[in-house]
Amino acid sequence: MTLTVCTGGKVLVSTDTNGAPHYSTAIAFTQGKVVALGEAAEQLAATAEEVIDLAGGTLAPAPGDGHAHPVLGALESAGPNVRAAHDVQGILDAVAEWKAANPAAEWIVGGSYDATFAPGGSFDARWLDEVTGDTPTILRAWDYHTAWVNTAALKAGGIDADTPDPELGRIVRREDGTPLGTLQESAANNFLADVAPPFSLEHRVTAVEQATREYAELGMTWVQDAWVEPHDVEHYLVAAAQDRLHTRVNLALRADPAIWRTQLELFATLRAQVHETAEQHYGPVSAGFSRLSANTIKFFVDGVIENHTAALGAPYADRSDDAGLPNWQHEELDAAVAAFAELGFQLHLHAIGDAANTVALNALEAMRAAQPENQTQHVIAHVAMLAPGEAERFAKIGVIANFEPYWAQCDAVMRDLTIPHIGHDREGWQYLIGSVLRSGATVSFGSDWPVTTKDWRPALSTAITRHSHLEPEAEAWLPEERISAAQAYGAYTRGIAAQALASDRGSLEIGMTADAVWLSASPLELPPTDIPTITVLGTWLAGARSY
Ligand SMILES: [Zn+2]
Repeated sequence: MTLTVCTGGKVLVSTDTNGAPHYSTAIAFTQGKVVALGEAAEQLAATAEEVIDLAGGTLAPAPGDGHAHPVLGALESAGPNVRAAHDVQGILDAVAEWKAANPAAEWIVGGSYDATFAPGGSFDARWLDEVTGDTPTILRAWDYHTAWVNTAALKAGGIDADTPDPELGRIVRREDGTPLGTLQESAANNFLADVAPPFSLEHRVTAVEQATREYAELGMTWVQDAWVEPHDVEHYLVAAAQDRLHTRVNLALRADPAIWRTQLELFATLRAQVHETAEQHYGPVSAGFSRLSANTIKFFVDGVIENHTAALGAPYADRSDDAGLPNWQHEELDAAVAAFAELGFQLHLHAIGDAANTVALNALEAMRAAQPENQTQHVIAHVAMLAPGEAERFAKIGVIANFEPYWAQCDAVMRDLTIPHIGHDREGWQYLIGSVLRSGATVSFGSDWPVTTKDWRPALSTAITRHSHLEPEAEAWLPEERISAAQAYGAYTRGIAAQALASDRGSLEIGMTADAVWLSASPLELPPTDIPTITVLGTWLAGARSY
């Protein structure tokens, strides 16, 4: 196997738990592992098959994405480009353009649009009708918990004034009870699963390949697909068998509150199938080369604040009788968490509202008490709101807090859809990254792509500054929750390795797996708002070039 030596720049070996960086001058890796650093590595250059001149750049541990929807993200590019729109008219123009270019399409399926363009996120079917005519159309909002459909789609789905809201979902209605055209939570998901046409297998495998290639181009080597249904496993198995995975992907199979008991055996079988395929193709997991795993179970504990489905401890500020839409009865969640943990799965709980986070922490705490031998690091994802006193519980229980740091800023979503819903008195309960980290918990970072960009660079900048890098002079939002660049990069590397259950990754110490990214500059040394200007020059996954 090739011996690779990198010199001529800096090697960011690790960021320790206090966030202090450790640099070296050179690194050597072979057979997937780091074998030498500094002078010892430089001496190996004479016999190396491959010597990389870092040209003054930095080789760093490769970042990962702790929560994303890579297939949904890549499939967006197959439909109308509504993401680039700046208002409702822009969405309609994109749909009209796509329809003109695809006149034979029987359906228009696309995403994802900015839900702040219409008051309350309520989009009218009739607006779409003007450009789609009779072609059934469904567009997802970028929260991926909401969809906008036209009249033909409502007809295709048999949704009218007499249709009751489905369990755990809402059909937004006009005053007279007829459906407006906006579907929330299970109303949107059921429609996509049961009514909208499915994408072909080849289409989905291509999406896996495209998404993982784009991740490799960003220097990333591990992605958590945070929402996998049983029928989605196939496109990953095919992608692995055809060698079309450019990053590692871990699958999180979604536990359904209504049928989770029947899923226990099924998910264990799917995991065995995934791991068998991965082992055949990449060798034993312990060797570090594997690119596919299915270690994880996803729970949607609640919804999102934007459409009032996040579960709060007290009612919404703008709806005095509504505290959100929890997806699970507490006892059922506790039982499901315990049962999947007993099968050796890692748990990944989506929790946005403060009540959802408390319920998630309670479930994991109860499971730990009942199964003290269970040492797996479980995950609560998003952690958008924490009631006072809850931040410290992550360290106490031993739960990884997965944050999407790009959301920790006062942007249009925060200003127009979040703060008006939760009220100013709860504004300061959000994205307590600094508090959770300071209490000693492991923090990992992610994107929730395609909800927001999968590019870690602007998100890293925001974790440090608590504002957008596009406004360098902006004031920090909740400034006490800022963290250092080393801590933030640590969340993308050490934190990700912990979440990936990979004790051999997250740093470039000798003996670690050589997952590395070659950057034009060290993200720890630039002014934070310049981090997005860093160029990714190369990516290595277990010592093999993936970009
Ligand atoms: Zn998500």
